[in-house]
Amino acid sequence: MKGENIKMNNKPNGTKIVVLGGLGEVGKNMYCVMHKDSIVIIDAGVSFPESELMGVDYVLPDFSFLKENQDKIKALLITHGHEDHIGSIPFLLQSIKIPAIYAPRHAKELIAVKLEDRNIRYDSLYAYDDTTKLKFNDIEVEFFLITHSVPDSHGIAIKTPDGRIVTTGDFKFDLTPIGPMADLYKMATLGHEGVDLLISDSTNALNEGFSTSESKVDTALNDMFDQYPWQRIIIATFASNIYRTSIVLNIFLKLVINIIEKYVYLVEVWKITLKYLQKVDI
Ligand SMILES: [Zn+2]
Repeated sequence: MKGENIKMNNKPNGTKIVVLGGLGEVGKNMYCVMHKDSIVIIDAGVSFPESELMGVDYVLPDFSFLKENQDKIKALLITHGHEDHIGSIPFLLQSIKIPAIYAPRHAKELIAVKLEDRNIRYDSLYAYDDTTKLKFNDIEVEFFLITHSVPDSHGIAIKTPDGRIVTTGDFKFDLTPIGPMADLYKMATLGHEGVDLLISDSTNALNEGFSTSESKVDTALNDMFDQYPWQRIIIATFASNIYRTSIVLNIFLKLVINIIEKYVYLVEVWKITLKYLQKVDI
């Protein structure tokens, strides 16, 4: 499926979607929307090597399509700050000229650190939010907030003369999320106005039923800590699941504050006792 071109209709200059990675696989997400002489890239991720790729740190998308069409590239748009969406940016910038990168604020900070680590100077990294609208010749772009395990995750709606393409980024529907709610109204509006091509995938999307809300995970973890207050609890989670990590840190802070409060109380008891002892002159 890699490198497969999807034509939106039979017009001679019809919009094309060129997939360089992330279709039918986990990781190295990178799609391109091309209309006439303009290309907008969506995400530039890495995937992590399987055990047979000994000594390999990252697996990158195949950039050869971009090398061949360098002069048409207008911008790279980032949906969110996970490695499988931003990880290949330093390698991309070393081989291809990207006129501008637009990312949500959180992802922008992560990209800036990544570039600094590799001593790459790049002055065209911009933050967007869900009110930002961009235009690159015939390609119009807007963004909408979605719920994911990192803050500031967005879907992207792209309009060309051939129709509207919506890519969701990684998402889950959670009506009681930790963090901001997805912009369901904007999604519904886009749906109402009409979407010609929806590009969407989500891990475990083929499993039936609903994902557990993150606030239920919060309650369950709090209950567990209440149940075993002085025992060792080991928690494993994806390091990139920022919201879940913040739940665990909040519980930890609550425990520390409890201990300090108990300690402060003991100190007060000792102070009162000492005063009493001094008064009664024992
Ligand atoms: Zn993600």
